[in-house]
Amino acid sequence: MAKRFNGNFTQQQPIPQDGIDAALAVMGHGRLHRYNVVEGEIAEVALFEQEFAAYMGTEYALAVASGGSAIACALRAVGVKVGDNVLTNAFTLAPVPGAISSVGANPVFVDVTNQLVIDLDDLKSKMAEYDAKVLLLSHMRGHICDMDALMEICDRHDVQVIEDCAHTMGARWKNVLSGKHGVIAAFSTQTYKHLNSGEGGILISDDPDIMAKAIMLSGSYMLFDRHIAGPDPEYYADLRMETPNISGRMDNLRAAILRPQLKRLDDQVLAWNQRYRMIEKGLNNIPGLEIVTRDPDEFYVGSSIQFLLMDWSDAKIARVLDGCAARGVELKWFGGAMPTGFTSRYDSWRYAPAQSLPQSDKILAGIVDMRIPLTFSLEDCQLIAEIISQEVSRVFQSEDEV
Ligand SMILES: *Cc1c(COP(=O)(O)O)cnc(C)c1O
Repeated sequence: MAKRFNGNFTQQQPIPQDGIDAALAVMGHGRLHRYNVVEGEIAEVALFEQEFAAYMGTEYALAVASGGSAIACALRAVGVKVGDNVLTNAFTLAPVPGAISSVGANPVFVDVTNQLVIDLDDLKSKMAEYDAKVLLLSHMRGHICDMDALMEICDRHDVQVIEDCAHTMGARWKNVLSGKHGVIAAFSTQTYKHLNSGEGGILISDDPDIMAKAIMLSGSYMLFDRHIAGPDPEYYADLRMETPNISGRMDNLRAAILRPQLKRLDDQVLAWNQRYRMIEKGLNNIPGLEIVTRDPDEFYVGSSIQFLLMDWSDAKIARVLDGCAARGVELKWFGGAMPTGFTSRYDSWRYAPAQSLPQSDKILAGIVDMRIPLTFSLEDCQLIAEIISQEVSRVFQSEDEV
């Protein structure tokens, strides 16, 4: 009988006990709002911001309600206005173009390469064609492009870079943490990312003007002095009456469960990468299946894995997915004509001006994607790779085009 995998692809680890204890303490005193403190107290949210800024080695951090609201706040903070064109990746998830649209701007999609990163040649031509002053760079599924080359292009053209690090918290390019290349970076602490508070997001920046604006925008009323990871009070002087309050704050309960998780992040990253490499090894040398090669300068976080079934018919890819699903292995496909679950394609975001990207179409049609929750053991990962390799080989060798 063919082997079956019985694990759950959406089951994350429990919140560590010290996180549960900290959450109970917050509920015990009842001061859940980030600005609700007693004399001499520093709120959990402010402490989380301070600790995250220290982890990243940045001047400032601001915790907010979600990754998507962090991105929208960053877009406003760097000055994106209604009607502006904002460059972003054709291969990303819905909250990215959604954030651009939420500020009244137009997403302009840039091609993806077969390494699943932004195509720098297409970036140059889209910059010229669309007169965009901002790139919202999504390190989608943790794939990091040549950041030195990207920053050189963007600096030369005066394009500000906002990094979407939803899948790269803890990752690095040439030993520089992902999120430190652009002018501001957004992270998500939603359940399926690298820290889990159910919902949540955090921004980092070294720019005091941009961060002061982000803090005003995030809904800080006039309590910006309680941001110990924010800029000095003088940076708010000109902003405080001019900046709309677009409430999207984080609360102390979520910060309380995030702080102990942040201490463990680097260990979690190593655990993810062991699992990633185990699966990657099992997918090597399978005819018809292309592993996505990783640049040696990229220190990635293997919280998910992608491979390519290039030039396969839709019907054959569907048979691989069905065959794996029947054996307990949940794969996602980015080529589907209709968006399902978390996957969708640039052409399903119909609020954005229509674009034709034949190179991206071809690559998206071959991308197969799988989550790697840390509740999987290394043996689980070995079995998953075995099942995928058998199902891919079975369909690849079959002649019939069903
Ligand atoms: C999850 C995610 C976001 C946004 O995060 P939310 O916290 O769900 O709003 C942004 N970009 C990418 C690529 C994501 O996967």
